[in-house]
Amino acid sequence: MTRSAVPRAPALIARKRDGLELSPAEIAWLINGFVADEVADYQMSAFAMAVLLRGMTVRETTALTLAMRDSGKRANLRGARGPKVDKHSTGGVGDKVSICLAPLVAACGVRVPMISGRGLSHTGGTLDKLEAIAGLRVDLTLERFEQLVAEHGFALVGQTADLAPADRRLYALRDVTATVESIPLITASILSKKLCEDLDALVLDVKVGRGAFMHSRSEARALARSIVDVGRAAGVATTAVLTRMDAPLGRAVGNALETAEAIELLHGRGPDDLLECTLLLGAEMLIAGGVARTRSAAEARLRAAIASGAARERLAALVAAQHGDPRVVAEPDRLPRAPFQRTVRAAEDGYVRKVDALRIAEVALRLGAGRSRVDQAIDHAVGIVLAKKPGDAVKQGEALAELHLRSRAQAKDASTEVEQAFELGKRRPPSLAIEIETIRASRR
Ligand code: URA
Repeated sequence: MTRSAVPRAPALIARKRDGLELSPAEIAWLINGFVADEVADYQMSAFAMAVLLRGMTVRETTALTLAMRDSGKRANLRGARGPKVDKHSTGGVGDKVSICLAPLVAACGVRVPMISGRGLSHTGGTLDKLEAIAGLRVDLTLERFEQLVAEHGFALVGQTADLAPADRRLYALRDVTATVESIPLITASILSKKLCEDLDALVLDVKVGRGAFMHSRSEARALARSIVDVGRAAGVATTAVLTRMDAPLGRAVGNALETAEAIELLHGRGPDDLLECTLLLGAEMLIAGGVARTRSAAEARLRAAIASGAARERLAALVAAQHGDPRVVAEPDRLPRAPFQRTVRAAEDGYVRKVDALRIAEVALRLGAGRSRVDQAIDHAVGIVLAKKPGDAVKQGEALAELHLRSRAQAKDASTEVEQAFELGKRRPPSLAIEIETIRASRR
């Protein structure tokens, strides 16, 4: 379509405002015009609000996703033989799964071209956790990313400026125009970036609960369904797993502490819930990649790659290739450690009924582990390690958590808040599986 022959932005915004369906060509025109500065920010903001209020069909969301994907460069992984499958998480507290999952799945013969994000607000980002490793670089070019996936079977890098620039610009507008919470816009935002990775399949971890972006199961299910449908329409077999995020995942919250815990998992010493989540997502990735037929067969391969040390070797080689100190994989104690520790103790006997993930994340944020503005520096060493998790019995005076602090002055308020995040009771709560539900689709 030549630009002179195209419909004008106000007419397209009005059609969406009135609840009508736009064609793929019209949506592509809008996105191309936005990236070329021919569609103004205020017009794109009005369009985003019209989408938030009126929604989009799968055909429209697919067109938006593909136009945003095509607004910049895309990886070409022809040099990486084998199935290429990535995982994306909508973000949770203590979610360090990517760091152990990617080398584990790569060790089982599936390529994992993982481009991750930084943490914002209360959920941490994989890049910040990785950067706790001395020297490690995540700001690599797309060409280097392609080489790493070909040589190591996976890579753990950040988004470059030339990858889906339409998403970055649109997200900045959504963030200040109350239009983040739109299922079609979230779908296009997540998938436009993931589809730049040249994937065969994608496994999406939609976290649900107090510490997640999606608080209710129905919201999470709607997002999962949308991403699965649009991923399939775009030619990528997409599976979504809804997982629980009421308590932090694992025990560690804070960058270096979480990286250490992810490495410990590859030594066979990971906390049960983190292992359960990693095996669940890993099994879906092996099935999607065609190297296992059932969850139990996939899980057996993943467990074998932990036991043999193959996943650890993969991670150490990649850390070295990304300029980091590979010795942290054998010796996680080499990661930065905060100067002060303080134990938070139980005031009474009982069972831990809940650990409020959101409150724990807010404490970690205030200690310096996270950022509330994109340009904020973070402290890799600080955070919280839970000594008790939901379902554990506890005696008065026993440790509930250990705080890792930059200064002693942080101890009093943080201790009180962490203690309040624990709900103790007389009866042991039922133990619940991490997986809530799985939504699958196959490649067309
Ligand atoms: N994560 C994204 O990448 N985009 C959104 O719109 C929401 C969450």
